Amino acid sequence: MKSPYTKSRRIPAYSAGTHAEAAADGAGSRTAGGGRAEALLSVRGLVKTFPGRRVLGRGAAPVRAVDSVDLELAAGETLGLVGESGCGKSTMGRMLVRLLEPTAGTVEFEGRDITHLSPRELQSTRRNLQIIFQDPHASLNPRQTVARIIAEPLLVQGASARAARDRAAELLTLVGLGAEHLDRHPYQFSGGQAQRIGIARALATGPRLIIADEPVSALDVSVQAQVVNLMERLSDELGLAFLFIAHDLSVVKRVSDRVAVMYLGRIVEIGDKRELYARPAHPYTRALLSAVPLPDPAAERRRERIILLGDPPSPAAPPSGCGFHPRCPKAQALCATDRPLLRIVGSGGRTAACHFPEVD
Ligand code: SF4
Repeated sequence: MKSPYTKSRRIPAYSAGTHAEAAADGAGSRTAGGGRAEALLSVRGLVKTFPGRRVLGRGAAPVRAVDSVDLELAAGETLGLVGESGCGKSTMGRMLVRLLEPTAGTVEFEGRDITHLSPRELQSTRRNLQIIFQDPHASLNPRQTVARIIAEPLLVQGASARAARDRAAELLTLVGLGAEHLDRHPYQFSGGQAQRIGIARALATGPRLIIADEPVSALDVSVQAQVVNLMERLSDELGLAFLFIAHDLSVVKRVSDRVAVMYLGRIVEIGDKRELYARPAHPYTRALLSAVPLPDPAAERRRERIILLGDPPSPAAPPSGCGFHPRCPKAQALCATDRPLLRIVGSGGRTAACHFPEVD
């Protein structure tokens, strides 16, 4: 996707009651003055703890699924969030839209702390902050028509039935379907088409940020490419910001401006996409990237694979010190006792939580 500094908003944003198209700038502007991107989302010390399962009547330790995460996302930026299954990335995404309540920490969106807003107060925020889910069919109400599914957030915002239906038709066209699909039901669509409907619904209120939670991982590879193309186009044309959550590093590389790597509920590395993919500093990032297939067969044969031993530890019983130390090929004694904090490493503004980062 384009740099957040070069994006511009060219798409209609819904305005309740008038169905007006937003001006290119003004309130919908993606950049702050002086050419610097404005902070759209700011996360501080975010924690999510789930109760542990009781076994034979005995309580278990709570599960710390997300552990003190700090994150910032600029207007118009796409931040990829990657990590193995169970690392806490989807829990993060759901907390950002308050589908899950954080145990601790704050989520600031458009300069406003939304962590403790009531459902009613959240309504105006939801207009600008939307989510797309992994399984498109499971996220669409099978009893509703496509028109109703897409129109629903507009009706909640006070749109008339006519305006909401017209907008739904526009959005279907925007995502590569057509108005002729308005009166069909979700089961009549393929997975890729259903995800396009999910995207249209997310776009209905003219959001500024979309949390895309594994949006293509349930789709066939060829369909994945089409949906990724669509999301790239929408990002560029609308100036949308995305938090793109995925475990496929090839997809994340393609769509993201920056990438954050998560392990055991923590961000272990974050940085500019080109820097992070070319010179990963954290051993976990290096291992993940070493498993990504290279398009050049000769380079693929030459490159060294880093095989991680064992499975990720349970977040109910995280290791002492660095959570990655039982699997880390570079671990030293310090790693088992001292938890590394995120700090700038090397050039290019990369940030990694490692006592012994790789710095080229
Ligand atoms: Fe490996 Fe130690 Fe760095 Fe953790 S702190 S990633 S165990 S080298």
